[in-house]
Amino acid sequence: MALFDLVDFDDHEQVVFCSDKKSGLKAIIAVHSTKLGPSVGGCRLWDYASDEEALIDVLRLSKGMTYKNAMAGLTMGGGKSVIMGDAKTIKSEALFKAFGNALNNLGGRYLSAEDVNITTADIEIAHTVTPYVTGLEGKSGNPAPFTALGTFLGIKACVKYKLNTNDLSGLTVAVQGIGSVGYYLCERLHGAGVKLIVADINQAALDKVAKEFGATVVGLNEIYDQDVDIYAPCALGATINDNTIDRIKAKIVAGCANNQLAEPKHGQALLDRGILYAPDYVINAGGIINISFEDDYCAEKATKKVKEIYDTLIHVFESADKENLPTGIVADEMARKIIANGGK
Ligand code: NAD
Repeated sequence: MALFDLVDFDDHEQVVFCSDKKSGLKAIIAVHSTKLGPSVGGCRLWDYASDEEALIDVLRLSKGMTYKNAMAGLTMGGGKSVIMGDAKTIKSEALFKAFGNALNNLGGRYLSAEDVNITTADIEIAHTVTPYVTGLEGKSGNPAPFTALGTFLGIKACVKYKLNTNDLSGLTVAVQGIGSVGYYLCERLHGAGVKLIVADINQAALDKVAKEFGATVVGLNEIYDQDVDIYAPCALGATINDNTIDRIKAKIVAGCANNQLAEPKHGQALLDRGILYAPDYVINAGGIINISFEDDYCAEKATKKVKEIYDTLIHVFESADKENLPTGIVADEMARKIIANGGK
């Protein structure tokens, strides 16, 4: 594999391959940029089909973190880590200590937090051997409720911009993935009078939202065909792709998942179809914003900053309309300018 020639390699500052035979740790840490500060981003545990798939995921996710942190106005760079393995069997104290030691070797250039399949308890174990973790219990804690709040407000911004109303009641939202963030998002949407259609691979999670919020459960592949106002991808990335784009009937795509577009051309394809897309790293920044308050944690201050996501999205939408460009391209350009200007 020619690493430097990969499409997703974007002059990353550092890519580290970590292994610990005893605990079974196989991880990749990607530091995309430390221009605005130490790189910060979650750790994802996933059973990747190949090393290459894991590498591409961490390269894309870490770049997204650089742009996310810049657009959220944080003095943090972008990084991400992936642990390869089956979340049901690989987790152990030794694994997360080995991961913590791997973080120590980077000396603070990258701080890790929670992402898919990683809980605050896992991060606490790593914390017993390293200071380079964040999102700790008793400090900023689980970022998911804040990511859900930001995503909810982002959906409201989309609805205001596209449908010209502040009222979500009566709208239908297809939520794909009822995990840590998806559940809290469903709770908020239900509270706002939204009708929910949901899909997940986890039956227990589906049963819970069906019972608590009256959500309608559909099959994994059926979620794309639903006649809904909003499609909210909240599982893994690349769900907007050649196979799904023509099936999406929603007027808005707005969810918490990272890297929702399989390729940049799908941003143009959404624009061509008149579908408003909330750039993923802008709408899902609530968790990292909350984490940015870790050292002197104050929930009110964090919440106030998460609420800025609404205006940031409106600004992106207005600029995109003016330039007749996909919202994702416009957000990328804004993020690069902020980084070039040292965070301003
Ligand atoms: P999670 O692991 O708690 O939830 C993911 C959910 O998606 C799980 O319930 C899983 O069963 C489900 N899922 C997996 N494959 C699926 C499929 N094919 N179809 C439908 N559902 C499927 O993860 P999370 O923390 O809720 O994160 C969800 C997404 O949001 C991820 O892309 C993550 O990177 C992104 N994100 C999370 C945070 C955060 O604060 N946790 C912050 C920013 C972005």
